[in-house]
Order: sequence, then C-alpha cells, then structure tokens
Amino acid sequence: MSLLEVCGIKKNYGTGKAQTQALININLKINKGEFVAIMGASGSGKSTLLNLISTIDKPTEGKIYIDGADITKLSNTKANEFRRDNLGFIFQDFKLLDSLTVEENISVPLIIQKKNRDVHMRKISEIMNLLGITELRDKYPFQISGGEKQRTACARAVITNPKLILADEPTGALDSNNAKNIMKVLVDINSKFNSTILLVTHDAMSASYSQRIVFFKDGSVVNELNRKNEIPIEFYNKVSLINSEVQQTCN
Ligand code: ADP
Repeated sequence: MSLLEVCGIKKNYGTGKAQTQALININLKINKGEFVAIMGASGSGKSTLLNLISTIDKPTEGKIYIDGADITKLSNTKANEFRRDNLGFIFQDFKLLDSLTVEENISVPLIIQKKNRDVHMRKISEIMNLLGITELRDKYPFQISGGEKQRTACARAVITNPKLILADEPTGALDSNNAKNIMKVLVDINSKFNSTILLVTHDAMSASYSQRIVFFKDGSVVNELNRKNEIPIEFYNKVSLINSEVQQTCN
C-alpha cells in the first residue's frame, strides 16, 4: 500500500472571476521509503499541494491518504495532532529556535510529543553523528552557518521517525556546495532510516538527488522521471532536459 495517496485533488482560491485554479486534478502515490521530488516553476502549485498534504489547508475536491488515513477529513485539533505525530518538516529558512542550542532544537519534537528526552539521547547522538553536527551540539543558531542550520533542521525532522518528511525548498537559502551537502544528507536519512521524503523544489540539481521526479506545470502533473542507476550528476542532465521541455511545451 502507498504511504501517501493523493486522489483527484483540485484546489481553487477565491470565487467567480477572481478564482485561481491552483491544482486542477492531481493524482500521486508515494510508497514507504521512497524519496520523491515535485519539481515545477513558481506558481505551478507545489506549495498549494504541500499545504494540503501538511494538513494546514483543505482541498476543494479530492482526498489525501497518509498511511491509509484520510487527512482531508480531520478537524483542526486532530490535524494538529496528526502533524505532530506523523510528519517531519524541513523549511527553506530552517525555522530553528534562536534561544535553544543545536541539541535542544533537535529534541523539540520529542518534547512536543511528551517523550522523555533522556531516553532518546542515543538517537539524538546517532543522528547528530550521521549529519556531522556532533561538535555543534552546544552552539546556538547564530553561532553556526546556513548549511549547519539546515543539517540541524534535518536532524529535527527525523528525530521522531515521522511517517513522512516534507522538505520545502530546503536548499533555497544555501550556496551550491552547501545545497549539494544537504541533498546528500537527505539521501542518507532516506537510506539509513528508510524515511519517506517528499521534496518540493524548482531546482533541478536538488531534485536530481531524489529517486523519482514528478513535474508540475500550471496545477497539473505533466511528466515523471525515475532515477535508475544514475548518480545525481547523470540524472541532473535528464532532469534539466525534461524541465526545459516541460516549460516550452506548456507555454
Ligand atoms: P508554487 O509553490 O509552485 O510557486 P503556489 O502553490 O504557491 O505555486 O501557487 C499556485 C497558484 O495559486 C498561483 O497562481 C498562485 O498565485 C495561486 N495562489 C497560491 N496561494 C494563493 C492564495 N492564498 N490566494 C490566491 N491565489 C493563490
């Protein structure tokens, strides 16, 4: 069974002449342990879909199932609980808490889940080690670089073993070297913890680290590409080509 199933999703904003059809008819399945990227230009509907999957907005039509549960039916309170218990988030601007150290930031989701942080210290150490941030454990966000902040945010996203990690333009605020390093971190998280990752990006380099890319244009899925045995740089050439074809054919 798919971990994420998006069925016949439409999303309109506004009404009448002012109406925008942000998503026209989206169908998408992601299996457990897959690392999938949604790629598309600005305005193609990526954030709208991410907001629906994150349970912070509701579709106009259609259903979204995560591990069999229809998340479009949840009340606000249930949606908050669902997010807390099942989803991990990585944002473009990191969203770390400035008054907490790296280690404390990573443990925030455990505290929100009322888990005993001491019991999870081994996991926190294991993740900091995997992500190469053990040395930073007692530093505050203002004392570390952008790449290190995003590593910390990646560690925070995976600490509770969420069913699904949603990464929204995670490399958008980073230079190309740090961007590549963060994408390698996501690949490591995917393989080491069998995490299911949905990445949203407009950037072909970032997308080329995923296993499968779904191309969005004007609120629809217009193409899909699977990475076979290619390394990211080989896949990147294909991704760039398809991306430029997608932009041309639909313009
Ligand atoms: P992307 O994330 O790919 O840049 P979005 O999902 O943000 O695309 O936007 C898709 C379309 O929906 C765009 O035409 C955008 O202007 C429109 N849109 C997004 N959010 C709103 C909103 N809150 N109200 C009205 N239109 C919106």
